[in-house]
Amino acid sequence: MIEKKSLPPGLHRDTLAVRAGLPPSQWGENSEALYLTSGFVQPDAQTSAERFASPQEGYTYGRTSNPTVTTFEQRLAAMEGTEAAIGTSTGMAAILLLGMGLLKAGDHVVCSRSVFGSTLNLFAKEFGKFGVESTFVSQTDLGEWKKAIRPNTRLLFAETPTNPLTEVCDIKALADVAHEAGALLTVDNCFCSPALQRPTELGADLVMHSGTKYLDGQGRVMAGALCGPAKLIHDVFAPIVRTAGMTLAPFNAWVVLKGLETLGIRMRAQCANALDVARFLEAHPGVTRVYYPGLASHQQHELAMRQQSGLGGAVLSFDVKGTDPESLRANAFRVIDSAQVMSIATNLGDTKTIISHSATTSHGRLTEQQRQAAGIGQGLVRLAVGLEHIDDLKADLLRGLDQLT
Ligand SMILES: *Cc1c(COP(=O)(O)O)cnc(C)c1O
Repeated sequence: MIEKKSLPPGLHRDTLAVRAGLPPSQWGENSEALYLTSGFVQPDAQTSAERFASPQEGYTYGRTSNPTVTTFEQRLAAMEGTEAAIGTSTGMAAILLLGMGLLKAGDHVVCSRSVFGSTLNLFAKEFGKFGVESTFVSQTDLGEWKKAIRPNTRLLFAETPTNPLTEVCDIKALADVAHEAGALLTVDNCFCSPALQRPTELGADLVMHSGTKYLDGQGRVMAGALCGPAKLIHDVFAPIVRTAGMTLAPFNAWVVLKGLETLGIRMRAQCANALDVARFLEAHPGVTRVYYPGLASHQQHELAMRQQSGLGGAVLSFDVKGTDPESLRANAFRVIDSAQVMSIATNLGDTKTIISHSATTSHGRLTEQQRQAAGIGQGLVRLAVGLEHIDDLKADLLRGLDQLT
């Protein structure tokens, strides 16, 4: 049997982040071992037969399971407060696994239209090919979610806060809508991580993660996961990973499980930096609007504070001033190109602050009309705030902001 490390009950999340997982091997390593092996030698034919029949009994082959991956899964589940978790190669592979496990032809999904772009494509285009229909609704209007429900609705999918406008949805209210309809609610918890937000405590059934973001937190590897009830994870999702092979690589699992050890302090420090930057931007005459859940001016500030442990997260956006799309874009580009410390990139969840122009990158494939409907103007700049000193970040933004006319 694959056992958990025995720890006393009632430990805090920061302790579980450092301690949860498998017990050490016979060598007593203090840092978790990295098992780089595709296969596992069996002590005898009978044990081999038992493990092949029931992977919970032991390790056989790397596509099915691996001890380093198990430690990552046990640690993440402990932090999310779910019975179990399963690792996947990327965050998108976790959503693919979710769909393969819960949906069949004729089923219907309700999803916010503000979710991650590849998530939209996966539901609308790829699952659509297999006869699964999806309806995309407002992130914040609960009435639209309710109206979209059909007798064949199986899944509600939400992400909160969203990129880049940091819109927050009410997880508890959405869980009620899902359960009334006999459907499940899955929350993409990428932006907050379990350090800030535990969706299953608010009624969500499953949590999806891109380990590529804050869980690793240092921009090194790709990873993903689903967290939820043991029955779904072990009986529904694990057999699909074993068959279809969206397996998390042990090296990547090891990097991310070591990342989890510092998740709490990193998130708290990055949230503090983000709040400081947001307040600073709000006071600058070159900035017309700041989107950040930690600011009292944010439309769902109170909900966000309740749902996210009183913290706003580390992603924020702001509109620079300008009179028309051309001048807005020129000013946004000036701020981005004047930065000497921040990285011009489009990912997030790194210790390095990332600055980007959403209208020409993550939302570049939309038409200008679709972009305006989504509220993403040419003057919008997104920041994924990292761990650099706050004064250096402010100075980096001033290099461009002070040039705006
Ligand atoms: C990055 C991201 C994903 C996809 O994760 P990958 O690891 O890149 O596949 C999904 N959701 C959100 C919110 C993300 O930011």
